[in-house]
Amino acid sequence: MKVLVINCGSSSLKYQVLDMTNETLLAKGLVERIGLAGSMIAHEKVGQDKFKLEVPMKDHKDAIGHVLEALLDKDHGVVANMDEIGAVGHRVVHAGEKYASSVMITEDVIKALEECTELAPLHNPPNLLGISACKELMPNTPMVGVFDTAFHQTMPPESYIYAIPYEYYEKYRIRRYGFHGTSHKYVAERAAEIIGKPFDKIKIITCHLGNGASVAAIENGKCIDTSMGFTPLEGLVMGTRSGDIDPAIVSFIAQKEGVALDDVNNVLNKKSGMMGISGISSDFRDIEKAAEEGNERAKLALKVFAHSVKFYIGGYMAEMNGADAIVFTAGVGENDIGMRDMICAEMECLGIELCANCNDIRGKEAIISTDTSKVKVLLVPTNEELMIARDTLEIVSKK
Ligand code: ADP
Repeated sequence: MKVLVINCGSSSLKYQVLDMTNETLLAKGLVERIGLAGSMIAHEKVGQDKFKLEVPMKDHKDAIGHVLEALLDKDHGVVANMDEIGAVGHRVVHAGEKYASSVMITEDVIKALEECTELAPLHNPPNLLGISACKELMPNTPMVGVFDTAFHQTMPPESYIYAIPYEYYEKYRIRRYGFHGTSHKYVAERAAEIIGKPFDKIKIITCHLGNGASVAAIENGKCIDTSMGFTPLEGLVMGTRSGDIDPAIVSFIAQKEGVALDDVNNVLNKKSGMMGISGISSDFRDIEKAAEEGNERAKLALKVFAHSVKFYIGGYMAEMNGADAIVFTAGVGENDIGMRDMICAEMECLGIELCANCNDIRGKEAIISTDTSKVKVLLVPTNEELMIARDTLEIVSKK
């Protein structure tokens, strides 16, 4: 079966078509500037050059219409007619406490996701627009929702309850949800395969370090804790997000700067993290360049980041009474040799020993710890689209 995977943002849309008979990627693409001047689609059939088309797209329905046209195109396409697409898998950010795994999208599911919009106001609305556009344009094709929060739903209450009045959990569902679940699950399963142990019998700490970053503790195949919380602002220091801070800082800044709480929230999401500390960029490559040139704040940002990842690894090892493996993934985790080295340095007491030679690698699956390291450290490039396509195939096949 061929599966179309769709990941809708507010003005962008990423897609892939995978042939799930052998899990191969057939085509992928990106639509940008939906609803804005200069909207365009960049489509790539595997093995061919990228094909770009600037064409007005007023909404997500227009965008998906152009995606379908590209997929049917006689030169760049990968299907002869739409019936060849057996199912669509949609990435959806927030499913609240409603879904602990992927589900077939029905009217009830759409309603439940609409109710979660309050919890993810930036992400769920465009995800839902993508779903309704596909429903209109491909009414007979089954659709599956794959949720960023689902994998973390196995966390025990002691991991997800915040120490604030319990009625806020009951009234407003304020709790830790966690995000990046599809990525954490994919790389953890791959890590188990690579080290040759059953996924449901090992303890793994997955570090998804991209622009957004989170760590998860996975014991016997189930997530038991993760660093992102009620929103993706909590946890690790990120590109532009603060991660954990003393909550009293929020009202203190509002008072001192004479700004509204929403403005402080904006600062914590968009002007903090690596950007905020370094004052240079949110991109690790820029910060590392500046650090090499002697910039002290760039050096400090890198140290603060490494410290925050180390802190969670140590905490999760304590929570799980050890770990069999630590996995690095996403932009920084897959590419930043120096950062992986900084994070894993001086953790021999926990049985973590990075191998400098093996760590000299980017973007490829590898074991990067020494042969004697008690905890295996791995690099596993994430592949959320494949995971979404797998879940989609499984659910559609059960129908
Ligand atoms: P997201 O999906 O959260 O937007 P990614 O997982 O694509 O983010 O990660 C993007 C980040 O990865 C960039 O901001 C950059 O900091 C980092 N990155 C990418 N390549 C490298 C590299 N070669 N060295 C260091 N950092 C890198």
